[in-house]
Amino acid sequence: MLLTTSVGSLPKPDYLMKARSQARKGETSASALRELEERATRDWIRFQEEVGMDIIVDGEQYRGDMVAYFAEQLGGFRQSELVRSYGNRYYRKPIIAGPVKRLRPITVEWWRFAQGLTSRPVKGMLTGPYTIMDWSFNEHYPSRRAATLAIAQVVREEARDLERAGAQYIQVDEPAISTRPEEMDLAIEALGVVTKGLRAQTITHICYGDFKTIGPKLHRLPVDQIDLEFANRNFELLRFFKGRRFAKAVGLGVVDVHSHRIEPVDEVIANLKKALKVFKPEQIYVDPDCGLKTRTPEEAQEKLRVVVQAARAVRESLVN
Ligand SMILES: [Zn+2]
Repeated sequence: MLLTTSVGSLPKPDYLMKARSQARKGETSASALRELEERATRDWIRFQEEVGMDIIVDGEQYRGDMVAYFAEQLGGFRQSELVRSYGNRYYRKPIIAGPVKRLRPITVEWWRFAQGLTSRPVKGMLTGPYTIMDWSFNEHYPSRRAATLAIAQVVREEARDLERAGAQYIQVDEPAISTRPEEMDLAIEALGVVTKGLRAQTITHICYGDFKTIGPKLHRLPVDQIDLEFANRNFELLRFFKGRRFAKAVGLGVVDVHSHRIEPVDEVIANLKKALKVFKPEQIYVDPDCGLKTRTPEEAQEKLRVVVQAARAVRESLVN
């Protein structure tokens, strides 16, 4: 009960950030970059073991954008010219230009590498079909639904390969649901294609959304666990779940990833105790609100330590 984990991304160390920028300019070879990605992955896994995380993530040291990472490796996608996201930020948005195909497994090799470094379970981490569709231009499929369902097939193939490789937990992130709650039914349909028949525990992470609209449909998401940010909303989401007998497991974000402040352990303990009035202890997974990649490595480590220490303290208070 109260198993601890992370949502996915962890910050990249300075040497890796530098090497990634050099690689983009052709100043570092792919194999030299890969070596540093492996080193950073090894270090993050060792850290998670040392602090006592129950379910490990590889930290996504080899990924940039969570949609572009998949789009770059799938058939049918190409990159756009630079488009503006906000302010003076520009990025290349993937374009669906032909039938989407998986040319080869995308995440399985990294998952095997990470799992080979620890005896604790390592989560398989995928971006969901709805989010991949929503964050891309569609120039090929006749509708958003057709595009999403085509992508769902390839994400499903990847999920099955992760399960075959031995992944006990498979997380399929759908952050785009938050920004377009009116299409949640489509996201649910597509996620169902991905998770159908999987024996691994399936998880989806959604964050910072219009909870009034998506909240009442959460129980229909075809996964075993829904991971949500609670800390950033001052645990007000607990009120929504109160009295609902929510049957799925809940990933409970207990530290705010948008804040430099390191939450005191006692504060997190108090919030976990509040959550225990709404959820059963075996229903709760304890983690940060979201990926920690925007924090410094030191802040991320501090926050992960707090997550584990608080969960442990509450676990002990429950057995005694
Ligand atoms: Zn998130």
